[in-house]
Amino acid sequence: MSQISTKRENCRLCGSKNLRLVLPIKASPIADAFVGADKLLITQPLAPLDLYMCSDCGHAQNLDVVNPELLFREYIFTTSSSKGLIDHFKKYATDVVDHFKINRGSLIIELGSNDGTLLKFFKDLGMKVLGVDPAREIANKATVSGIKTIPDYFDSELSKKILSEYGPAKLIVANNVYAHADQLGDITKGIAQLLDDDGVFIFEVSYLLDIVDKFVFDTIYHEHLSYHSIKPFVQFFKSHGLQLFDVESIGTKGGSIRGFVQKVNGGRPEKPIIQKMLSIENERGLHEIGIFSEYAHQIEERKNSLLNVIKKLRAEGKKVVGYGASTTVTTLMYHFELTDQLDYLIDDNERKHGLFSPGCHLPVVPSSVLREDPPDVVVILAWQYAKPIMEKNKDFLERGGLFIVPLPNLQVISKQNIGDI
Ligand SMILES: [Zn+2]
Repeated sequence: MSQISTKRENCRLCGSKNLRLVLPIKASPIADAFVGADKLLITQPLAPLDLYMCSDCGHAQNLDVVNPELLFREYIFTTSSSKGLIDHFKKYATDVVDHFKINRGSLIIELGSNDGTLLKFFKDLGMKVLGVDPAREIANKATVSGIKTIPDYFDSELSKKILSEYGPAKLIVANNVYAHADQLGDITKGIAQLLDDDGVFIFEVSYLLDIVDKFVFDTIYHEHLSYHSIKPFVQFFKSHGLQLFDVESIGTKGGSIRGFVQKVNGGRPEKPIIQKMLSIENERGLHEIGIFSEYAHQIEERKNSLLNVIKKLRAEGKKVVGYGASTTVTTLMYHFELTDQLDYLIDDNERKHGLFSPGCHLPVVPSSVLREDPPDVVVILAWQYAKPIMEKNKDFLERGGLFIVPLPNLQVISKQNIGDI
């Protein structure tokens, strides 16, 4: 196996070497590395995905870091390709400017700015805007379309250059950075340097307690390196002269939080939600090993139930396939050992049709197969979307097909219990 990852030996937030394995997850290939037919002879290496926790600050993290050049430089997903996100960004920009009373002409910087969709709304509100994004092609397109974007990784060195050229920022936004970046300390040092004295830094990350409670362990994949919670953040920001003063829960990616940060003497009072979430984390033992041992046990039980059902159906000669070809599906297929149990994958994203899944190379086909040449059983691997997928393909059940929903609890749906959808 060729090496695609390196292992760090200290906590990404506090630097401690006191790290414990809390949730073993089976190694998998890069979750989004779908390949064309011409690459089927090339073996795609697997990288470890185990979740560790820092015994000192409580931060949950992957220590095996896949070379970011393999993950982000060739990134092709552009924000503006998604209509729902555009409406969300427009409202976001207006709300933030109103709430923090940001004056026209203020500098707003977005880290991981993609094609500049969010910054464009800030620009429309009269702000000076600057993007930073390592996906070269997308960054260059954004610049051409009028949103100047530096095609690089943000760090404390780049921060200094931006500061000398543009001055301090009233607002820094980073919605896809804190979950994905390895060098969070240096990035945060850069943010602290660049933020104006009364400036605000806003970020979004998935929330560790939701990952446990909502069973979304499959959102653990190599692009994500950190699974954040409030307690480690409070200490981390403090060590950089910053203060987490507000948090909101948001629904994206199975449960996320939006954090608001200012300089230590930024002047805004800390909202009661911070203390409230700290007590909940403490009561739940979120930074202890017990909650994760229990979680690992529950995951194992669900895996065994699913495999028993699938193996029985296959022994009866049934054709079993998967529905969903997203990044979460790669984690789920490898962790649940489904890679040799499914004939192919169905997905609604046209760009994936004709490609093959990472590592195990299952073909990806459109859902029309359910009418044209239906299998007997469809395991809904994109289980968070089980309801709309089953609604959309009800006729498959009418004709005698079976849907299996693996999580949060195993459900087998046939035309007899179709009402359970
Ligand atoms: Zn730590």
